[in-house]
Amino acid sequence: MFSDIEVNDKGHLVIGGADAVELAEEYGTPLYVIDEMRIRENYRRLHRAFSRNYSDFQVFYACKANTNLAVMRILEEEGSGIDAVSPGEIYIALMAGFDPERILYTGNNVRDDELQFALEAGVRINIDSRSQLLRLAEMAPEGLEVSFRVNPLVGAGHHEHCITGGEMSKFGIMESEAPEVYSLALDLGLKPVGIHAHIGSGILDPEPFMLAVESLMDIAGRVHGETGIEFEFIDFGGGLGIPYTPDEEPLDIDEFASRITGLFKDKLSDYGLGRPVMCLEPGRYIVGDASYLLTRVNTVKESYRKFAGVDAGFNTLLRPAMYGSYHHILVADRPLAGPSGKIDIAGNVCESGDLFARDRPMSEVNEGDILAIMNAGAYSFSMASQYNSRPRPAEVLVRDGDAEVVRRRETFADLLAGQVVPARLLKR
Ligand SMILES: *Cc1c(COP(=O)(O)O)cnc(C)c1O
Repeated sequence: MFSDIEVNDKGHLVIGGADAVELAEEYGTPLYVIDEMRIRENYRRLHRAFSRNYSDFQVFYACKANTNLAVMRILEEEGSGIDAVSPGEIYIALMAGFDPERILYTGNNVRDDELQFALEAGVRINIDSRSQLLRLAEMAPEGLEVSFRVNPLVGAGHHEHCITGGEMSKFGIMESEAPEVYSLALDLGLKPVGIHAHIGSGILDPEPFMLAVESLMDIAGRVHGETGIEFEFIDFGGGLGIPYTPDEEPLDIDEFASRITGLFKDKLSDYGLGRPVMCLEPGRYIVGDASYLLTRVNTVKESYRKFAGVDAGFNTLLRPAMYGSYHHILVADRPLAGPSGKIDIAGNVCESGDLFARDRPMSEVNEGDILAIMNAGAYSFSMASQYNSRPRPAEVLVRDGDAEVVRRRETFADLLAGQVVPARLLKR
């Protein structure tokens, strides 16, 4: 069971010191609630675990997990950098005040104008393919510092869609061609200073991560040996998982960090790689458990099955429908009540796949109750859409019991934003 479920004297769920039921009344539902201190604690726990073993350590928060500006500001204050996967994410990171030097752009199937944008923004570019290298070299100033994403033939993740290393993955350059591609970059007048891999997402088992670290270090060693390139940074990507089900164990981050840094340091000395900065790009680990999605039950229905119908759907939180992901769900009005039966928790989108849970053991669920869907901080709002023409929900940030709106609820007008009806079709 999640040990940190906090309840107040009314028996209501507490998030960041605030009463979840009261937040739902005040700001309406569906509502994303972000716990500021949880983000800071996650960041600090991870940073401490690694930096005490290897002080030249830098986090690049993978902001596709959650690009809310307040979240970005919190992480900028903590000293994080940003892993951006699109020009839009670069733009948001700059708006959040990140130094361009601290933004690493890891694009995939990137257009020339996107490379140009990244160059002009002055961010670090992590190259994904030979094609991208050749096109970047055409437009880059002499001596531009770059890095490469390598596919270390190791992959792992919570779902097939989220495994980004190995033979079936579209990402990165092949390990066998790495030395040749690094020399090509030198010949083209660029200055390679980094090497990068990101093998997947939602990893709770240290073993595949260890294999990837070992493999990337061997590749770095070969590149250094064959080209003389001195690496200023070695980046192992993100992918650190969090428990979603009550019986999953969290990563033992101290043990994980000491094993990885141990292997890293051994390989540095084996290959004479000096003392590069070690980087990680966690997304989920930092923000995943920091948010809850609050949604109100409006319909309890007994048809062929028993359903609790809520006012959110896969347009609000896609992970269950997209990946079959488990999200633990509490009745915010009485989160500690034990299960009294099984129920399906269904959204309001017109599709049968719009389910947050099937056959979920829950305490009594009544119309009007607020459900709190846990672990909705990563790949949650950032994957929300307006499907079914529903305005996207509001987000509030809570700290010490105070709540502030950090994204207003969209309105019907937002559904029409950007649309233009040709004059000939206007209703006369
Ligand atoms: C998505 C992504 C990450 C973060 O993955 P998490 O599983 O959220 O830690 C890191 N680096 C790159 C390049 C990514 O695409």
